[in-house]
Amino acid sequence: MEPFGPPRVEWAGIKENGMTVICWFRRMLRLDDHPALVAAAREGAVVPLVILDPEEARLRPASALRQARSLPRLEASLKSRHSRLIVRRGDPAQVLEAIARETGATTVHATTGFPFYGDHGLQAAVERGGAKLCLHHPADLIPRGSVTTKAGDPYKVFTPFWKSLRQCDIAPPQEVPKISSPDRWPDSDGLDWPEARRAMGRGWDVVSDHIRAGADEALDRLDAFMDDDMADYAANRDLPWREHGTSELSDSLAVGEISARRVWHRCLPAFQDGRKGADVFLSEVAWREFGRELMHQHPRMPTDNWRPEWDDFAWKRDNDQAEAWRRGQTGISMVDAGMRELFVTGRMHNRVRMITGSYLTKNLLTDWRVGLAWFEHTLIDWDAASNSMNWQWVAGSGADASPFFRVFNPETQGDKFDGKRRYRDYWLDPESEGARRFAEAAPRSWKIDLRKTCHPAMSVGESRKRALSAYQDLKD
Ligand SMILES: Cc1cc2nc3c(=O)[nH]c(=O)nc-3n(C[C@H](O)[C@H](O)[C@H](O)COP(=O)(O)OP(=O)(O)OC[C@H]3O[C@@H](n4cnc5c(N)ncnc54)[C@H](O)[C@@H]3O)c2cc1C
Repeated sequence: MEPFGPPRVEWAGIKENGMTVICWFRRMLRLDDHPALVAAAREGAVVPLVILDPEEARLRPASALRQARSLPRLEASLKSRHSRLIVRRGDPAQVLEAIARETGATTVHATTGFPFYGDHGLQAAVERGGAKLCLHHPADLIPRGSVTTKAGDPYKVFTPFWKSLRQCDIAPPQEVPKISSPDRWPDSDGLDWPEARRAMGRGWDVVSDHIRAGADEALDRLDAFMDDDMADYAANRDLPWREHGTSELSDSLAVGEISARRVWHRCLPAFQDGRKGADVFLSEVAWREFGRELMHQHPRMPTDNWRPEWDDFAWKRDNDQAEAWRRGQTGISMVDAGMRELFVTGRMHNRVRMITGSYLTKNLLTDWRVGLAWFEHTLIDWDAASNSMNWQWVAGSGADASPFFRVFNPETQGDKFDGKRRYRDYWLDPESEGARRFAEAAPRSWKIDLRKTCHPAMSVGESRKRALSAYQDLKD
């Protein structure tokens, strides 16, 4: 059986030997701050490789689309350095074995995967191809497990983790290495990812319009955010209707167009000078890091309750009301607006993610894994650690979780954060652009009729009572 747990990760120390090596760009769609590329370039002539995995496209088509949109930019960056991007479609283990054999590569350099338990199978496949797999840290802020409590234990609660992290010397981002080319290039499939296109259906073009891809674009966005929006971030970050209230960098971070270390170091002078907003912004970036720490401690976080006592909770499996939730047809305006935003843009505002998540897991008593799977299917910023940490936070089963008895009231949340209904009207008013785009993107089988009013099966008050009583049963 495959070992379960983090594989061994290289931090440095790859020797130069002038061989052909493969650098697998695995959700690391950039050239700078790329430890696997630095190691590969130091070792020999580099074959830059991207694998378009049909299974990944089936499970998370929006995330696949987001990566596909970034590939032409990556290819152009490599070309400008007289290199190429080799694209292969197929199962990663089979592709790696075949390309290692074809090129006679000595090493395949890549960063660790998330979840990383698949990596052990890859190791064996690469060895069958005659090479070794060398896994590197994906330029997160800190090496996994390096920040601990005074007792040497990993943190399970965010606030003390953040207090420690902010005092750490975060390694600076690495510059782009000089990349030399092999004498002969292997064949490359095209950049198109048909499985992802098929899985997205007619949503492909709609979501695609909302994507700003490329490493340069991510850096520009970060700079623009710091110049124009960061000062008001603490006040604006909870307002879903506010344009540029947040950085909108999560999808770039998720596909690796920009590293967390780059974001950190770009923002550090502002943080040290006490510039308004910098502290809160970096603390959010630290939440992403915290998710990675938790996942390192509990690799099954995407599938298993962090707290085992939640295994006995009376979660409902998938059900009709959860389907109405996915389709933005619950009759609860804040929830429906959020689910439509998600379907059309592949993103959802963080405040609304918490509201829709709370509604599904508490008011509808539906298992958090049902919501997690839908977010995995639809988010362009899908990230295994962030998604599962947050779903378990929302549901109450996580390490550092919102208590279950804290049931968000979607109506009062709407009044508080969308008082003038700008966000909700954009997504729900049949005359508005957002609602029209939703009808355009939704599968025909959903039979979306924008003029039809949906009614919740149970009032928010009643479903809240039911949730609290289920929670009491668990405690009893
Ligand atoms: C149920 C649920 C599921 C989520 N799933 C994902 C996911 O799959 N991928 C993902 O990147 N984020 C996820 N988030 C976190 C958060 O909603 C997004 O990161 C945020 O909305 C992205 O917008 P932004 O880039 O403008 O963030 P900003 O507010 O500008 O924050 C800057 C960066 O900090 C990080 N960040 C901010 N908030 C969080 C958070 N709560 N948890 C982890 N990192 C955070 C992100 O990388 C973000 O880009 C989820 C939240 C919830 C409640």
